[in-house]
Formats: sequence, C-alpha cells, structure tokens
Amino acid sequence: MSGYPATHFCKQCSQETPHSEILVRKTSSYDTDRSLLGRVKLMAHTFINGGHYYDMDRYVTCKVCGRKEKDNWGNEFE
Ligand SMILES: [Zn+2]
Repeated sequence: MSGYPATHFCKQCSQETPHSEILVRKTSSYDTDRSLLGRVKLMAHTFINGGHYYDMDRYVTCKVCGRKEKDNWGNEFE
C-alpha cells in the first residue's frame, strides 16, 4: 500500500508528524484449528487476503518523539 500518507497526529508532539507503521497479525480462529482442513483454510485465507490489512493490528510510531500507539481503523477507542 505504497503512497499511503505516513503522517499521523501525535498527541505528544501535538501535531501531524511522520510515522512508521507496524502491522501485527491478529490471531484468528484458524490458528487454533490444527486439522489439515484448518491449515488449508488458513493458507487460503492468508493467500486471499495476502497483501491486505485484513486481521491486522496497526501500530504507528512517531518518528519525532518515538511515541507508539495502536491505530486500528474505526477502533481507535477500543
Ligand atoms: Zn511525537
């Protein structure tokens, strides 16, 4: 997803600052399914959603002050 503006409002800097993004994959029900079918489904799931931000937790780190915060779309106040 190149071209996505990597700026974010930093509460500590009180302004829009450059941020780096870190994506951490959420665990899903597929991870606990150890059957062959479960693994196939996980592979298919991963393939179909490959390169997309599906089931990912997104963290942004301020490059100015180093503040890190979770920044999931629509779940900012979760
Ligand atoms: Zn900052």
